[in-house]
Parts: sequence; structure tokens; C-alpha cells
Amino acid sequence: MIDIKGTLVSEGQGGVYNERMLGNFRVWDPYRSKLAALWYLDKMTALGKDEVVLYLGAANGTTVSHVADYVESVYAVEFAPRPMEDLLAVAKKRKNIVPIYADATRPVRYAALLEPADLLYQDVAQPDQAGIAVKHLPFVKSGGRLILMLKTRSVDIRKSADEVFADTCEELTAGGYLVEKSVWLDPYHKDHAAIVCRKR
Ligand code: SAM
Repeated sequence: MIDIKGTLVSEGQGGVYNERMLGNFRVWDPYRSKLAALWYLDKMTALGKDEVVLYLGAANGTTVSHVADYVESVYAVEFAPRPMEDLLAVAKKRKNIVPIYADATRPVRYAALLEPADLLYQDVAQPDQAGIAVKHLPFVKSGGRLILMLKTRSVDIRKSADEVFADTCEELTAGGYLVEKSVWLDPYHKDHAAIVCRKR
């Protein structure tokens, strides 16, 4: 990952969403992107240039665009029509983004479009976040990674953030992931934890 005097950046062809530029580099804001927040809090979670990424919850492609600056290719899944339009515009300018308009709870519908992923990145803010990650285990290479951005309030508002976190880790473990570490994303994103796993 590239940082310029402590500021995370990525190197792409021009700006995508009016982000700040530092010379030719695009500033990757931790308040707008959970993956950037994770980097500020844990410098070990880096992206590799040869990696294939399966990205669930692409939204309008802001974080996707930064990820695409670093890796070989990004398969970006989004099911909401409006953000999908923006994502398509981003993908038009970056040849290593494959936009997929689909519901991530039904991976069987787009399985044929995918290649095995080195990294499954998930940011869907849905009740069944662990279940969605487990359904995508077959698309992750053996020993590949999962970074799940857990929004605890989307899972169950009656439970504490810690309880939701513990339940999620249990479900991921039972589903075939080894939880390696977790990082709460405060102060950048409240009630969000990044759970970093490996496929067993
Ligand atoms: N990752 C984005 C970023 O950093 O720019 C933000 C993602 S936003 C928190 C969550 C996104 O997940 C929304 O755009 C939503 O439409 C999408 N989403 C939620 N459930 C989904 C599902 N089942 N399938 C596909 N996309 C989903």
C-alpha cells in the first residue's frame, strides 16, 4: 500500500468521485471507506498486485476503484440499481473491474462469471453477513482471505455489538473460515468491525 507522509493513496488513471489528489495519486479517505480505515488501524492488511478480489456490496464503486488500483482484478457485486449505474461508469474506465448486478445472497446465479478469489471482501450491511460470507467460501482459493466489514447494528439491534461480533465469528468458524484477527473501526466507522479470516 502506498502512503505519502502518512496519507493512504492509490495510483489510478485520474479521479473517480472528486477525491483529493496528491500529485497523480488518489487520496483514499478512511472516513469514506472501511478498507482505508482498516489500513490506518492495521498496516498489515495490505492488497497484493497479483490478487483476484471478489467484492460483495460494491455500492457506487468508490472503494472498488481504489482496490482496482492495487490488484489484478475485482469482481464487484451490487444489487441496488442506482449505485450500480455509478459502478458501471467506474468499470468502464478501469478494465480490471467486472461489475455484477446481482444479489449476493444467491451466488449460484453469478458463479459462472467468477474465477477463484485470493480475497473475498464483503461490505453488505445485511442481517445475514456471516451466512453470505460462508456461501461464498467455494469461490475463495484454498488459503485465501476474507475481510468482512461487520455492521453490527444491521445484524440485530437487540444484541450488543460484542454479542453480534462473537456470534458472527462463531458462524464463520463453523462455516470453514479461520478467524485470524479483528479490528474495530472506531473512530472512522462506529459499530463496525473488520474481521480478517483465512479459508481453512
Ligand atoms: N463497499 C462500499 C464502499 O466502500 O464504497 C459501501 C457498501 S454499502 C455499506 C453496502 C452496499 O451493499 C449497498 O450498496 C447495498 O446496496 C449493497 N448490498 C446489500 N445487500 C446486498 C446483496 N444482498 N447483494 C448485493 N449487494 C448488496
